[in-house]
Amino acid sequence: MKPIPYFAFRDFPEGSEAAVQAALLAAVQGKHYILGRELAAFEEEYARYLGAAAALGVGNGYDALVLALKAVGVGPGDEVVVPAHTFIATVNAVLQVGATPVLVEPDRHTYTITAATVAPAITSKTKAILPVHLYGQVCAMEPLLQLANSHQLRIVEDAAQAHGAMYKNRRAGTFGDAAAFSFYPTKNLGALGDAGAVVTNSAAVADFVRMYRNYGEAQKYQSEMVGVNSRLDELQAAVLRVKLRHLDYLNAARQRLAAIYLNELHGIGDLILPYTAPGCGHVYHIFNIRTKQRDALQQWLRGQAIQTAIHYPVPVHLQPAYRFLGYGAGDFPVAEELADTSLSLPLFPGLLPEEQERVVEAVRRFFRYE
Ligand SMILES: *Cc1c(COP(=O)(O)O)cnc(C)c1O
Repeated sequence: MKPIPYFAFRDFPEGSEAAVQAALLAAVQGKHYILGRELAAFEEEYARYLGAAAALGVGNGYDALVLALKAVGVGPGDEVVVPAHTFIATVNAVLQVGATPVLVEPDRHTYTITAATVAPAITSKTKAILPVHLYGQVCAMEPLLQLANSHQLRIVEDAAQAHGAMYKNRRAGTFGDAAAFSFYPTKNLGALGDAGAVVTNSAAVADFVRMYRNYGEAQKYQSEMVGVNSRLDELQAAVLRVKLRHLDYLNAARQRLAAIYLNELHGIGDLILPYTAPGCGHVYHIFNIRTKQRDALQQWLRGQAIQTAIHYPVPVHLQPAYRFLGYGAGDFPVAEELADTSLSLPLFPGLLPEEQERVVEAVRRFFRYE
């Protein structure tokens, strides 16, 4: 039996791999590897694509979160409200700027935080809300923005899984004071190495990040602040420019695959399929299903050479390194249930119809559906 990978890099759309290689070669021959024309062009094109005022390339998605938080003024003594159910980078970034992450439950249907789950966590120390557009679904931003407004809080979006996703005719990453994107290779828009971007409509945030990512220099050898080195290099920018042209097509391919899973797996066993809230676009970075028999199902699929993944097996508050935050088992029942029951099925642009059919059949057989 031919293995079906959880994720694979495939030449999809056909010819895009050659276009990426050509762009890489041209960037190599450009002989200007840091803060050059490719980066400036990508920043311009990505901001235009999203409908934002500015995009600033940085070293990776984690740095994008850290710089965005710093740029909106989050620091020691501040609290930032974050989802208990997310990739560890979200919470780590808050700690990195010296602030305190305050974890809240995700909504039990969308798995993202909402105004209802965030509101009770707001205190006099709260400085910002950090919504994560988890798995590719945009959070219900309107109520979150209203909540932030009424408490004078900043919003930093973690859009690392939601490139191109829409909420009410606007793209993820354009709602808050700043947004962080990761271009980790397997993301919906992925580089061939580490890369990230801060996106913002605020000139002040853009100016801060532009300096801070480059040692705080306004111009060469003139430091306006104590910054860091976190830059998106020319080779990755050249790759991203090519891939950006295909992003809508790639997301549409993901959505088509998701629609097939949603249709074919509906009503099987105790399966819970992804729920998309009205107005909240979904670009299916991850196709998450849930069952009480998660481990057995994963084992069964493995036996048929079908690879799956778990996002995420241990919630942030139960990670050994984060015990000092003072949370314990039982504090976030929804997040804990998601960790125990979630399974991510293979879904990536270029997954073949016969491969997806095999996944569907295998899941149905597990539940003795046929
Ligand atoms: C991938 C990811 C990040 C971090 O991105 P890196 O580029 O790997 O640093 C942050 N948040 C979420 C939700 C992610 O999925």
